[in-house]
Amino acid sequence: MSPSAALGRVVAIYPGSFDPITSGHLDLIARGRRISDHLVVAVLENESKRALFSMEERVEMMREVMKPYPDVEVDSFKGLLVEYASTRGANVILRGIRAVSDYEYELQMALMNRRLRPEIETVFLMAGEAYSFVSSRLVKEVIALGGNIEGLVPKLVEERLKRRLQGETRK
Ligand code: ADP
Repeated sequence: MSPSAALGRVVAIYPGSFDPITSGHLDLIARGRRISDHLVVAVLENESKRALFSMEERVEMMREVMKPYPDVEVDSFKGLLVEYASTRGANVILRGIRAVSDYEYELQMALMNRRLRPEIETVFLMAGEAYSFVSSRLVKEVIALGGNIEGLVPKLVEERLKRRLQGETRK
């Protein structure tokens, strides 16, 4: 497909570490479904980034949280995102922007991905107002220190985080 051709059926990949999934991610997925014909949430196996949850755990939590959305596919990948997207027949990469601080990194990634695969378009959705301050990193920090993160992550994720982080600090 040439970069100027119409997209036609939109197969979107929403990639991320999802370590763990937050309500902000969920909000983006709910909106991403509406602008795509098929949405694949792809959990990144990133060896250079130390994750709290293993890839298997992150995929398992994502599958659980996605139960109300059976049309959303959950998958995992490693290596180059655009290569993965291409093997999945995707023509859109979905990403979220919370604040100006996200913009620089996201722009760099989007431009590199465009250079690698010009036929794949990166589409940005603005974070939901209620979740624009929510990040996986911050949620982990707050819960490790005993703070309340109710509503900022799905219930099952909150429980998993408590077991992992508060359990560990009490040891
Ligand atoms: P990555 O390690 O690839 O940045 P993340 O799981 O942190 O993975 O985020 C995946 C995508 O979701 C990124 O585009 C990020 O900007 C977006 N995102 C993260 N948190 C939120 C949020 N609260 N609202 C909207 N988008 C978000």
